[in-house]
Amino acid sequence: MTDEFIRRVTGCRRCPRLVDYLAMVAPAKGRSRQDYWNKPVPGFGDMKARVCLVGLAPGAHGANRTGRPFTGDGAGDFMYPLLHRAGFSNRPQVEDLQDGLELRDLYITNAVKCVPPENKPQHLEYQNCLPYLEEEFSALENLRVVLLLGQGAYNSYLRLLKSRGEIRSLSEHPFAHGACFQPNVNGPHVLASYHTSRYNVQTGRINPQMFLELLSKARELAGII
Ligand code: SF4
Repeated sequence: MTDEFIRRVTGCRRCPRLVDYLAMVAPAKGRSRQDYWNKPVPGFGDMKARVCLVGLAPGAHGANRTGRPFTGDGAGDFMYPLLHRAGFSNRPQVEDLQDGLELRDLYITNAVKCVPPENKPQHLEYQNCLPYLEEEFSALENLRVVLLLGQGAYNSYLRLLKSRGEIRSLSEHPFAHGACFQPNVNGPHVLASYHTSRYNVQTGRINPQMFLELLSKARELAGII
């Protein structure tokens, strides 16, 4: 994305509850507030990407600390090695903005760019942030697959499709792991996944094989060899 977009997102204060929360997120043990990004977190990746992965929101001690989606928390620790195995990146481990990570044919972002209390954005916060997500999609001219992690991100994207008249209702397309449809023959496929949160991994709701199969499906739908 352009520097101008990144400046606008990182300076955004549209959601008062989230702005207040950012000011009071307590650092994890052994860290100080100076170690934290503590701003909205824009997406990143290959602007020629055919696949866009959308999560819910920055993790309090992951993306909200490092400034990059899924970097520094359990969800990313699960996901990035598998993205590498599937051919979407140049390295399996990630640490921070200086780790040299490059995505290939993949762009990663969140439906809501600010960390929400208890990982639960409110409806208005999804709505406030949707224009940024829309801008990211518009900038991805080769986009063929939108891979949505978790019901929050999935429903947020479906609301965007509904506002464009590409679907009639959200209830016609219920969330399920592996759910897939193409709302418009000229537009990207929609592919749903359980979120890769530490909770979902620890409870066995999602495992590496399930996620790898979904990444393989995303590559196939996107025509990536
Ligand atoms: S969640 Fe999005 S719209 Fe709300 S303050 Fe953060 S960047 Fe702005």
